Amino acid sequence: MKIYNFSAGPSMLPVEVKLEAQRDFMDYKGSGMSVVEMSHRGKWYEEIHFEAMSLLRELMNIPEDYYVLFVQGGASTQFEAVPLNLLVNGKADYIVTGNFSSKAFKESQKFGDTVCVASSKEDNFTYIPDVKSIAYRPDADYVHITTNNTVYGSQYNELPEVPVLAADMSSNILGKYYDVSKFGVIYAGAQKNIGPAGLTVVIVKKDLAGRAKPYCPTMLNWKVIAESDSLYNTPPTFSIYMAMLMFRYLKKFGGVKEMEKFNTYKSDLLYNFIDNSTIYANKVRKDCRSIMNVPFITTSPELDAKFIKEAQSAGLVSLKGHKTAGGMRASIYNGMPVEGVQTLIDFMKKFEMENK
Ligand SMILES: *Cc1c(COP(=O)(O)O)cnc(C)c1O
Repeated sequence: MKIYNFSAGPSMLPVEVKLEAQRDFMDYKGSGMSVVEMSHRGKWYEEIHFEAMSLLRELMNIPEDYYVLFVQGGASTQFEAVPLNLLVNGKADYIVTGNFSSKAFKESQKFGDTVCVASSKEDNFTYIPDVKSIAYRPDADYVHITTNNTVYGSQYNELPEVPVLAADMSSNILGKYYDVSKFGVIYAGAQKNIGPAGLTVVIVKKDLAGRAKPYCPTMLNWKVIAESDSLYNTPPTFSIYMAMLMFRYLKKFGGVKEMEKFNTYKSDLLYNFIDNSTIYANKVRKDCRSIMNVPFITTSPELDAKFIKEAQSAGLVSLKGHKTAGGMRASIYNGMPVEGVQTLIDFMKKFEMENK
């Protein structure tokens, strides 16, 4: 049976990318070594490292005055690195639109006077607040957002226009196009749209690296990482290699704007079906719906549980919603083919007929 994996992350990768990694695994290009065995200071690995960086620059159209950093610790470690690197006045504003932005905000409070300037919590995170009508503090060092809310399934289509915008882009980096020059810093764990877990990408405007307080841990200091080309210590070499393969794949695909069209097409199929069904619902405001994570519910928690169980048996795995949100969630990142979404819709139709 063909399995489609709707996991929120780590998540599906394109078959071509996996096959290429498999072909190279025992002997990388005649080196007699596997990528996982190579010194991170050797020429074989260095080629991979710098190709990955330059492909990411090309794909996201990253201007020259930004650093691209490859670090570890996941997006969650950047919840701490952001305040440690950016707080100068000691103030920052957070927009709280879901699970991970709540966590980022909570973490930031350890380091300074950080406040939540807008939230959609009162409405169960079903929308993104209007970024134009928020009273940002003029002396805030940065404003923090989460461009795509992985658990609740919403996304920013419009960005706050503020001097320094910091963004957690973990769940829609390279899946939706954003103009990098609108951001001060972007960070993302790789395991959703890029490749295996272990790599975290940080894209930071050069003049914002170098403001860190003396007590900022060296490993979290963006300037230190930048000045060593992300080779300050051992990078997650295999994850970076897989990311490079994914970047090549995306380039061949036509780039991020093409990928966004593809992701929009897939998610439209699913939302249209849900909106016209009798037993499924998605509660997110239509103009804020995510093209990456599609949460939905049936008419009762019992029926949700039955759905998840039967879907699993039909080869549609990891559809259970996040524990804080309940229901179901189909994560349909870059690696999810249209056939996966179509198979899910066919299953949902059948389940609807049997259970309404
Ligand atoms: C998955 C996710 C995280 C957590 O990432 P880790 O790499 O596991 O720390 C943070 N933010 C968002 C938006 C996510 O989707």
